[in-house]
Amino acid sequence: MGAYRDFHARSIEQREAFWAEQAELVDWHRPFDRVLDYSRPPFAKWFVGGRTNLCHNAVDRHLAARGGQKALVYISTETGAERAWTFRELHAEVNRCAAMIRSLGAGHGERVLIYMPMIPEAVFAMLACARLGAIHSVVFGGFAAASLAARIDDARPRVMITADGGLRGGRPILYRPMYEEAIRLAKAPPQKVVVCNRGLDPELSLVGGRDLDYETLRAAHASEAVPVEWLESSEPSYILYTSGTTGRPKGVQRDTGGHAVALAASMKYIYAGNPGETMFTTSDIGWVVGHSYIVYGPLIRGMTTILYEGLPIRPDAGIWWKIVAENRVSVMFSSPTAARVLKKQDPAFLRKYDIGSLRHLFLAGEPLDEPTHRWFAEQLGKPVIDHYWQTETGWPILSSVPGVEATRVKFGSPSFPVYGYDLKLLREADAGEAGPDEKAVVAIVPPLPPGCMTTVWGDDERFVKTYFGTFRDRQVYSTFDWGIRDRDGYHYILGRTDDVINVAGHRLGTREIEEAVQAHANIAEVAVVGVADAVKGQLPLAFAVVKDPARLATEEGRLAEEKAVLDTVDRQLGAIARPARVHFVNVLPKTRSGKLLRRLIQALAEGRDPGDLTTIEDPAALEQIRGAVGGKPD
Ligand code: ATP
Ligand code: MG
Repeated sequence: MGAYRDFHARSIEQREAFWAEQAELVDWHRPFDRVLDYSRPPFAKWFVGGRTNLCHNAVDRHLAARGGQKALVYISTETGAERAWTFRELHAEVNRCAAMIRSLGAGHGERVLIYMPMIPEAVFAMLACARLGAIHSVVFGGFAAASLAARIDDARPRVMITADGGLRGGRPILYRPMYEEAIRLAKAPPQKVVVCNRGLDPELSLVGGRDLDYETLRAAHASEAVPVEWLESSEPSYILYTSGTTGRPKGVQRDTGGHAVALAASMKYIYAGNPGETMFTTSDIGWVVGHSYIVYGPLIRGMTTILYEGLPIRPDAGIWWKIVAENRVSVMFSSPTAARVLKKQDPAFLRKYDIGSLRHLFLAGEPLDEPTHRWFAEQLGKPVIDHYWQTETGWPILSSVPGVEATRVKFGSPSFPVYGYDLKLLREADAGEAGPDEKAVVAIVPPLPPGCMTTVWGDDERFVKTYFGTFRDRQVYSTFDWGIRDRDGYHYILGRTDDVINVAGHRLGTREIEEAVQAHANIAEVAVVGVADAVKGQLPLAFAVVKDPARLATEEGRLAEEKAVLDTVDRQLGAIARPARVHFVNVLPKTRSGKLLRRLIQALAEGRDPGDLTTIEDPAALEQIRGAVGGKPD
């Protein structure tokens, strides 16, 4: 991997020259004076003095060369809708939407909260905010009132753009009860609310003086053009809250210039997508993956992006591959959670369509276990690239970088540090660098590269304390994840630093045990947590979903299966890691972004109050855990 190693080395050793070169991938209205201002560590300012605009880079600048090319393709298997917008049409629509938002008094520096399902208007609204220099804060449409209210109070938006509802598996999820309640709960609710009426809520009513109908407002501004607001590079483009897997969500603030450059470079080097091609990212605009790789990244690159509203297995498990075939998708991005959903389906669906156009499938968001990684790559016959990043960074930290060099993928590993990241594995005790195969904290030596969060919205102190306060004598950014590097330089993520289980003085990552459990052929999914134990300090408990529940039909069958799983762990990791029990459940509690909520499982297993439940996807999953641990004899 000589070529990539050199590329990475240059990005660190000649940081400013490297990024000045990447900055040429986007348009600047005014050139920057300095590549980097790092006079106030750990706050980094990139492309100081430069003026640019994300909407210009995503839309306007493509009009000349590719105005007639599709920019946005919307596919909803929930409603059956399918529609495309060329760059020219997208430009017109974004101008209308910007005029709408401007008419409500939200301009440069004002916040606009976008609480919307996966419909094109959500993309128009994001780009319209960028055009105006307004700061968008997209809140995932599945969040209920309390979560929405907390984000309203933190971001203090002047305007909220929402819809009457979303759809999931054909079932409407009405938004009005949620935003009404959130507005009631919020201390500083938005003054204006724009509602997209999809005809899902027969009782939809607009509150006079506050609410406006999207279509009506659009019609009033149909022919307006709104000039681009040229922002200084460091001015915020958006706020996005982290998933809340480990606690209270943090308002990640992103800049403008660094963000544009980082995404443009990542599209070229990591995703290896070319202008004129199509990218399909199966996430949601409410998550960072949706921000970076449904909306901004592909459009900045001059690619067509697909906005998909629907499930991965409806009408059947072939739907994504049908979309890939029909749209000649070359780059696809999904999640390990989705991979595990597909793994439970008939693999024939993966071969039903001609996916010859697809070059790479990228997965991120959660640990990708080796068996699932291998299974997916073999079934698809395409490189499946695990890559690791965070809401905070906005683009990958660890990845294979095929646009620079096609390095071999090792199953279960997100490969190497991405260019721009001075990544270190540091020992928790003394911040010393760990050797090969030694588990340590994944850390980044600042300055963080362009595109990473610049601060916590409204709370510089929390930014410094939270992210740079892990080690006493060394100001480095902590990812709060454990990692390990093998002798070939490949990295592995071993779980979160607060998910460690301490068994009789041995510190075990939940991920390690989960991987071992997963090696048993009948396990579809598993969560391992540590529960307090008077003798050993903590004991691992496993909660597993099986592929074939028939084997658990009798008590003997269940015991045999539990023993087989425990034996698998013994063989892989040794008896020290052996879970005290394996509880079989039908569903595991997850965040709405599909991440395992180990802290909730742990609280229930220890008989504690699980606390804040607003981020949970399916509350019924908690009942399963309660039932399982309640049945435990000791
Ligand atoms: P919060 O910070 O509020 O607790 P969160 O960490 O779940 O929420 P995100 O920023 O959405 O919020 O998730 C980033 C985390 O997801 C990473 O720190 C890591 O734990 C996990 N993750 C992401 N990609 C991968 C991957 N490829 N392999 C392993 N873990 C991953
Ligand atoms: Mg996090």
